[in-house]
Amino acid sequence: MCGIVGYVGKRNAAPILMDGLDKLSYRGYDSAGIAVIGADNRIGVRKAKGKLENLSRLLETSPAAGSVGIGHTRWATHGAPTDANAHPHMSCDGRFSVVHNGIIENYMALREELTVSGYTFSSQTDTEVIVHLIEMYYNGDFKEAVMKATSRLEGSYALGVLCADCPGKIIAVREASPLILGIGVGENFLASDVTALVAYTRNALYLDDGEFAEL
Ligand code: GLU
Repeated sequence: MCGIVGYVGKRNAAPILMDGLDKLSYRGYDSAGIAVIGADNRIGVRKAKGKLENLSRLLETSPAAGSVGIGHTRWATHGAPTDANAHPHMSCDGRFSVVHNGIIENYMALREELTVSGYTFSSQTDTEVIVHLIEMYYNGDFKEAVMKATSRLEGSYALGVLCADCPGKIIAVREASPLILGIGVGENFLASDVTALVAYTRNALYLDDGEFAEL
């Protein structure tokens, strides 16, 4: 098991994401990463294999400022635990970033299809097909692109997705993998487990299979 967190609000996202990942660390993981939308509306990704301390050290030398972000602890199923295979994964155009818990069973066929269509892969993960599918289906409507992409997936997934064109938003969706929304005042949270939310809100909303959320 492993974990997903997300934050949309007015505070600096990175410390909140790191705190959430720390709370989820009991679930086990082999690498970790975060993506934050900066003031320039660009998505900044920091990720590192191994312990969360490695990611913390990276953030000290290379901070990721911004008040909207997603984070991930990975338990590798496809591809070794390396920096490149750690999540979040980015689309080729840098517009989308995805964290994923679960397994995409039809990823081989999707990877082949996307490669033929010109998308370049930077990891060995099954997850990376998701972010390229979103990029492929994007026509100016973030939610529609995520819905179309997930309709192509077979397997299990909890996803947190960022789009640089919608800098105040996270889209979350789940299928056979846990995902919980934390509703705050002027801020909202996302986590695979309520332990990552209790420090911030007691108002939790459990997503069901196939449900989407816009935070
Ligand atoms: N299957 C994905 C990977 O290997 C996600 C693993 C996870 O749930 O952390 O990167």
